[in-house]
Amino acid sequence: MHIAFFGLGNMGSPMAANLLKAGHEVTVYDLVPAAVEKLTMQGANGADNVADAVTDADVVISMLPAASHVKALYFNDDGIFSHLNKSTLIIDCSTIDAQTAKQVGDGAEKAGHAFIDAPVSGGVAGATAGTLTFIMGGETNAVEQAKAILSAMGANLFHAGPMGAGQIAKICNNMLLAVLMAGTSEALQLAIDNGLDPKVMSDIMLQSSGCNWTLQKYNPCPGVMDNVPSSNGYQGGFMVQLMNKDLSLAMDTSAASGSATPMGAAAQQLYRLHQRNDTATQDFSSIFNFYSRNS
Ligand code: NAD
Repeated sequence: MHIAFFGLGNMGSPMAANLLKAGHEVTVYDLVPAAVEKLTMQGANGADNVADAVTDADVVISMLPAASHVKALYFNDDGIFSHLNKSTLIIDCSTIDAQTAKQVGDGAEKAGHAFIDAPVSGGVAGATAGTLTFIMGGETNAVEQAKAILSAMGANLFHAGPMGAGQIAKICNNMLLAVLMAGTSEALQLAIDNGLDPKVMSDIMLQSSGCNWTLQKYNPCPGVMDNVPSSNGYQGGFMVQLMNKDLSLAMDTSAASGSATPMGAAAQQLYRLHQRNDTATQDFSSIFNFYSRNS
């Protein structure tokens, strides 16, 4: 398979590397030339522009920050839809709103291409290990075709429903993640303020009813867990500004469906306040500092 891969950031870079390891021919493009160079050193073809990247591609994968980037990449005069030269399977893995996903999907189908939205869960560690969860929305045929490619990057492949359903499922999950990360930080700081060791407290909660993914895989308190952003100055990982984007998507979706999401709304306010402390590009587990007495 000849795959064109767009967006080589914290997630896209290790994802593209896993496609290479699986033996695919991968052509990569990012606005940042250094990101392209990093992948060419691992065996990818580097492209200088969108046209070169998509020529003869069987599959296009995009992993961009937000909806505005995705729309521009596909619909701009010099975008992907202007340059595809054969019928292509398009997989957008970015987390964006379901409506934009459907717009891109409709554009693809009108031009004779198949499309699925396939946002991911699992973080940079999952992207690196090739154990991501892909949450797909789209026609069954396209989803079945995509599975062969996505299995090189992920361990769990779900078909959530029609086009856009992957995005709805993803933002429900990330709203819960924001609540869990804030709640875990709050509990750990309460323990610290009362003289407990956060490592001991984490071990207790891991074996108790407060156990959750953030404690298992992504402890927010520095020094408790190795190889997570909190033990690396909150660098790498999933940026606060991207969590705020996802919480806005969740709140917009909640408003549109008349759902009650008070915990999500509280998490959104916490993350907004947190971002005002110059933390936009830190990992989202830095919400822990929001509770700390010294921050
Ligand atoms: P990132 O900001 O690290 O990377 C995005 C990359 O896209 C950057 O390298 C940027 O230069 C590139 N880009 C932007 N516009 C482009 C264009 N028009 N053409 C080519 N490249 C372009 O972001 P990330 O953390 O990799 O996240 C990507 C997406 O995945 C986001 O939607 C995010 O919400 C989602 N996500 C992230 C994580 C995580 O842990 N980081 C986990 C799950 C989902």
